[in-house]
Amino acid sequence: MSDCIFCKIINGEIPSYKIYEDEYVLAFLDLSQTTKGHTLIIPKQHVNHIFDMDDQTASHLFANVPKISRALQQTFSEMVGINIVNNNGEAAGQTVFHSHIHLIPRYDDDDFNIQFNDHQLQYTPEELATLANHIQKEVSA
Ligand code: 5GP
Ligand code: ZN
Repeated sequence: MSDCIFCKIINGEIPSYKIYEDEYVLAFLDLSQTTKGHTLIIPKQHVNHIFDMDDQTASHLFANVPKISRALQQTFSEMVGINIVNNNGEAAGQTVFHSHIHLIPRYDDDDFNIQFNDHQLQYTPEELATLANHIQKEVSA
């Protein structure tokens, strides 16, 4: 897409700090460096978000996550973990509408914050079974 900044990075119209490239994907440093080594992996074929992504594009994209995670771990001896984040939709924090996976290395003294609140008491077992059943039907539809 001509007005997409990540397509421009793929085409070399905007510079980037490249980490890995093959026929299907590109990995480069995120400008914000939320933590040291914060990296993005993107498909070379433009796709807005996960909802529009075909299985083949997803296979190539996600298959590269372990390799690049390990490369970050090898590079930063003080790294103690990694968060892998994929924002989809404005409400979920997506700001660039060319799908991308964030690799966010974690350090003991970093200021990255990700929080999962526990709302399990708001659901009965029957409600959870119904939810699972509805989603299951959509997966195989
Ligand atoms: P999102 O909020 O959509 O999940 O993440 C978009 C990310 O793209 C942000 O973390 C932002 O720092 C990064 N970003 C935006 N523009 C550029 C750019 O021109 N170059 C690089 N390397 N990263 C960018
Ligand atoms: Zn694009």
